[in-house]
Amino acid sequence: GATIGILGGGQLGRMLSVAASRLGLKCHVFDPAPDAPAAQVADAHTCAPYEDAEALAAFGAAVDVITYEFENIPTSALDALEALAPIYPNRRALATSQDRITEKDFLTDLGLAVAPYANVESAADMDAAVAKIGAPAILKTRRFGYDGKGQVRLKDASDASAAWADMADAPSVLEGFVDFSKEISIIAARNPAGDVACYDPGENVHKDGILATTTVPAAIPATLRMDAVLLAAKILNSLDYVGVMGVELFVTPAGLIVNEIAPRVHNSGHWTQNGCLVDQFEQHIRAVAGWPLGDGTRHSDVVMENLIGDDVLAVPEIARTAAAIHLYGKVEVKKGRKMGHVNRVTPA
Ligand code: ATP
Ligand code: MG
Ligand code: MG
Repeated sequence: GATIGILGGGQLGRMLSVAASRLGLKCHVFDPAPDAPAAQVADAHTCAPYEDAEALAAFGAAVDVITYEFENIPTSALDALEALAPIYPNRRALATSQDRITEKDFLTDLGLAVAPYANVESAADMDAAVAKIGAPAILKTRRFGYDGKGQVRLKDASDASAAWADMADAPSVLEGFVDFSKEISIIAARNPAGDVACYDPGENVHKDGILATTTVPAAIPATLRMDAVLLAAKILNSLDYVGVMGVELFVTPAGLIVNEIAPRVHNSGHWTQNGCLVDQFEQHIRAVAGWPLGDGTRHSDVVMENLIGDDVLAVPEIARTAAAIHLYGKVEVKKGRKMGHVNRVTPA
């Protein structure tokens, strides 16, 4: 069987490895941490920094296809790897989603709605951006932000200079605040043959900038469900995408607004593990391995609840209830750290 190379050994890489293993495939994880969650379950682990040219060359030579579980992979590592094995999702998909401005320009060119936005790289840009976008607004770093990190909210225009000072000169984007009624996401997959499959959209609730729960089905009209599917397919087709993508959306009276896209399996798709025959992890492995996509029809209603930090201490009690428990093998409990998740399932 083929060997899948995975860049990044966090929980997403771990669950991808388990899915690959179920399909009889081998996984080789690249991650600098010796005790990375995925390294505990993968067939092989290259434990080296992303700057280690020799380690990258050996990793690239040992695998048949390369995928990744996070979007902030250094470009230099991909330069070194791309001659050795195909990288899925492709580099254009990765580059597009690594930078919030590039991403919003791309989505806008596709005809999709995003929040009003402006580039901010100086105090003068910040003044111009606030004049253009108004307030309330959110200032976000263009790159490397996740779980709400690297974001400052502006209540009104007078917060502008303090907000820009907070960014420590990191290139940023000012986004108009979207007055959404709910947040949903859609997990979509595409394989090299161009087949596209979407999971049922889930409804997401965030707490302190981190995803807390995903509920399927989302309480939205069928028309919006269809809009989400069509918009996701448009994004994947336009990028000639191979793999699973998470698309985060705001529901507004004017329709769906794209918040951001993630070129990987997504936390808001963890419900698929217990709500579908083929979950997002298997679907991603199928796509990058060139298999037909699997059946992702939702057979149950699911509430996915993240176990963040101390939440994981409740697992002994949760284990007495009707819930599927997924733990990531992280030794140290830290505030804000995703330790695992729980899926509560009722037949649809
Ligand atoms: P992730 O962990 O999902 O990658 P992130 O750090 O990239 O998170 P965003 O998804 O951009 O952050 O924002 C986090 C949350 O903040 C959103 O899910 C939403 O609740 C809120 N938010 C972000 N941008 C806006 C906006 N323009 N208007 C209103 N709310 C927003
Ligand atoms: Mg993000
Ligand atoms: Mg997000």
